[in-house]
Formats: sequence, C-alpha cells, structure tokens
Amino acid sequence: MGRKKRLKLSNRAGASLFRVSLGALAPRSKVAAVQTEPYAEMDQVSFPPLSRVVVSGGTHGNELSGAYIVRQMQKENSDQTGSMSVCPILNNPPAIDACRRYIDTDLNRCFTDALLNAQLTDTSPSELRRAHELNSLLGPKGSEGAVDLLCDLHNTTSNMGLCFILNVLDWIPLHIVKYVQNKMPSAPSRLIHTNATKSEGYSVDSVAKHGFAIEVGPQPHGVLRADVYNMMKEAVGHTLEWLNEFNTGTTFPGGEMEVFVREKAVDYPRDPESGTPAAVIHPELQDNDFKLLRHGDPMFKSFSGETLNYEGEDLYPFFINECAYYEKHVAFCLAKRRTITLPSIQVKET
Ligand SMILES: [Zn+2]
Repeated sequence: MGRKKRLKLSNRAGASLFRVSLGALAPRSKVAAVQTEPYAEMDQVSFPPLSRVVVSGGTHGNELSGAYIVRQMQKENSDQTGSMSVCPILNNPPAIDACRRYIDTDLNRCFTDALLNAQLTDTSPSELRRAHELNSLLGPKGSEGAVDLLCDLHNTTSNMGLCFILNVLDWIPLHIVKYVQNKMPSAPSRLIHTNATKSEGYSVDSVAKHGFAIEVGPQPHGVLRADVYNMMKEAVGHTLEWLNEFNTGTTFPGGEMEVFVREKAVDYPRDPESGTPAAVIHPELQDNDFKLLRHGDPMFKSFSGETLNYEGEDLYPFFINECAYYEKHVAFCLAKRRTITLPSIQVKET
C-alpha cells in the first residue's frame, strides 16, 4: 500500500535547486498510466495506489491563490499526508516574483509532446526550459515514472466560481471532482473537459499519470481575495482527503456527473489596422459564465454603441472576458453540457 518515501522539492527554478530528483526516487508502477475511454460504460474500475502527489501553483505568476496555498503548504511541511507524499511546488518562480503571467511565454502552453520533445537552444524561452525541467522531474509525460497525480492551481478574472479542468476524461480526477463537489455543496462548481488528447494537452498537469487544474474566479490577477483563496484551499483539502481514502481502501460509488465539454473559442471583433478589440463583452453576457447563450443573444457591444448578437448553436459560455486571453484572441469559450456515468472505483492492490 502507500509508500512513504520522502520527496523534497525546492520551490525555486532550476534543476540544481531541487534537492532530490523525483525521477530518481520514483517507485516504478507496474501499471502504465491508464487512459480511460470517454463516456465508456463500466461498473467498476481499480487503479494502483496514488502515492506520489504534486500540488502546484504559480504556473501563472500573477494568479495568487495557488501560489500562496503552495507556499503555506511548504511552510507547514505538510508533505506527508497518511498514505502518500504530497509535494507542493511553485512552477514559475521568476514570474511569481515579477507578478506577471509569464516572463517569455505562457508556461501552461508548453507541455505538448511536440514542445517537450523539441530541442532547446540558446534562444529558447525561459518557460520552455522550465517545462523541460518540470517534465524531467515530474514525468516524463506519458511514462511509468511520472508522478501519480498533479493538481495545478489557477485563478481567472471570469465569474466561473470553482472549476475543475481536465484534458482527458479519466476516472481518478473525475471521482475527485465528484467527491469535492459533494463536500462543497454551496460552492458554484463545474467540471470542464477541454477535449484534448494527452499528447496535445499543453498544461503542466498533463505530465502526471492523472492530472487536473483547479480554476477559481473571479479574482483580478495580482490580487488575493479571501473568498477565492478559501474556496481553493478547501477544494485542495478535499482532494487530498479523497486520495488518502482511496489509498486506504475506500470504495467510491459511481454515479452521474455534469461536464461542460469545450467546443470552441470566440474572439473579439477587431480593428483591422491595429488588431485591437473593436467591441467589449455585452453587459448581458458579462459575468454570465455557464448560463446558456442562445442564438440571437447579445454578445458584444461596439464602442459606437451597436450590439452584436450571437449566431450559432446554443452553447454554454465560460472564461468570459478573461484578462489573460485578450492576447490569445479569446473573448470567451463555448461548451456543450453533457452527463457522464462514472463507474465505482477502488484501489488495486499491487
Ligand atoms: Zn492560470
């Protein structure tokens, strides 16, 4: 059952600053990362114990809740939690110090197979170097040596409440989300599936065997709010509770879950010469994340006062007016709502 190897990671950038390489200590699981079939119908599944767990923050340096939660975990030295080792890691310390999303490029877009396999050069962005470093310490992505679970903490300026973001539908994080949602019934909580493959997954959590992001908002970047901090901290606490219960033999029943499956992103109308937005999010859309956007509903308001209406299939908007997405040409994303059926889950004795 749960291995008790002590893993110590520094929160500073640079492989040499990690006191111990996780890869060197990694107990090799006999079972490779399991990719579950989306929406597959099964009664019961089992997985080996999840003994090496990472909680990371500061992937985006100005999203402060996660950075402060991780720092607090490091201060409390809470890296041993019952049946597992929990490593709290700050993913992008230079960006945290500068209170910027990133220094050269968005770290949380650097973890695709293609970028992780690319040759680094003298001119490679600092975040791509850091991605390679994190991949060798926590992965390598897709390998048996990868950490068992990585939960990465983010904030959004959008009115999204407590969100869990998964690249692939994987029973472990799905059960964690179901558990946390049951434990926090008053929190506005949703599950988002980005609909990417593991290989295409560009976020740091894709390096682990099982990974997901917790995204909480609204909170301006560079700001700490107690309500957002507490919501995230409680969700992390329940995540670790679930892992400990799973490792020590609890069977979690299956059931139905609601999931928002990302379909596409919508950009602002833009000035053809300057490329800057030519309209703002319409007041009737602003802050209405996860409220169905119907064909004909107001979408943007131009600076001369015209309303631009949404044309297309009725879908659920999220990441509405996220500050960091102006540069990514995303005014908001759209999702379909689906229901998935989870099998019951329990630990597999190895
Ligand atoms: Zn983020």
